[in-house]
Amino acid sequence: MNQVYDVIVVGSGPAGLSAAIYGQRAGLSMIVMEASYVSGGQVQNTYEVDNYPGLPGVSGMELAEKFRAHAENMGTEFVRAEVTGITEDEGVKTIHTKDGNYRTKAVILAPGATHRMLGVPGEAKLAGMGVSYCATCDGAFFRNKTVAVIGGGDVAVEDAIFLARGCKKVYVVHRRDQLRAAGILQKRLMELDNVVMKWDSVVDEIVGEEQVEAVKLHHVKTGREEMCEVDGVFVAVGIQPNSEAFRGLVDADEAGYLIAGEDTKTSHAGIFAAGDVRTKMLRQIITATADGANAITAVQEYLLKL
Ligand code: NAP
Repeated sequence: MNQVYDVIVVGSGPAGLSAAIYGQRAGLSMIVMEASYVSGGQVQNTYEVDNYPGLPGVSGMELAEKFRAHAENMGTEFVRAEVTGITEDEGVKTIHTKDGNYRTKAVILAPGATHRMLGVPGEAKLAGMGVSYCATCDGAFFRNKTVAVIGGGDVAVEDAIFLARGCKKVYVVHRRDQLRAAGILQKRLMELDNVVMKWDSVVDEIVGEEQVEAVKLHHVKTGREEMCEVDGVFVAVGIQPNSEAFRGLVDADEAGYLIAGEDTKTSHAGIFAAGDVRTKMLRQIITATADGANAITAVQEYLLKL
């Protein structure tokens, strides 16, 4: 508790691990705090990453392991602890966790984001009983079965492509008549024989007693209702920032993203936000890693002025 670090990085996804690598190169005294047993954040749940330059088709798990090994090899010290809040006294910031407190001159917040819930009847009751938020984690349980993927973004389409390899049939339920996902993913999806699109459709209920049995849909243009029999439902309707512990300390937008530009500076001097948790145009691995590098540059600038 006596040591005051130059910087503490909160989070060990691509942004946090990139900050660790840059921080070690800069010779800063630092630790990386991670809430989970595994590093990598959302990348861990990605079956295949095909847009990280130089590593086409790398699995999310392998990429996360590479990031972690790189940071470790540079000498990064990791502390497993969930951050509950940050206070400040005479320029020294204290990071509070359930297992103790840590003091630092600067903080890089890189806690990432987690999946959003659909918020329909049956979803919470059947979570883990056919309702899933991670196709790569749970897809194997649905071999030769019929599933529905809800959403039209990159994650939904990637999940549907992944699930179609082992499932008998995959419904993709999207509330509009156009997908949001990248063109290359859309093209791959449309080539699959066992994928059935449910356009302009929203889920009213996930139906089942002990296990998922069906999804009740309605067509937003015609109002027609439909019961679609499925064994599993994969919800992929976007993400929400893991920013609860920092709201009030740092300005956030309406959706809870911490307000910071490319320089990662927040409204609070000495606190920087990197990766999916900050306001930005594009939330991808490459922009998260870039944030980690920028954040360390901003931290160095801040430390020089202390
Ligand atoms: P996203 O891009 O925000 O897409 C969410 C999808 O869910 C949208 O199609 C949205 O519909 C739909 N949706 C939202 N709320 C809904 C609701 N209540 N009911 C039904 N549908 C709903 O989120 P994401 O796919 O999780 O991706 C998150 C971020 O990670 C994105 O920035 C994405 O580009 C990035 N990502 C990148 C890669 C990659 O580069 N390989 C891979 C994965 C994720 P609308 O389209 O109508 O809004």
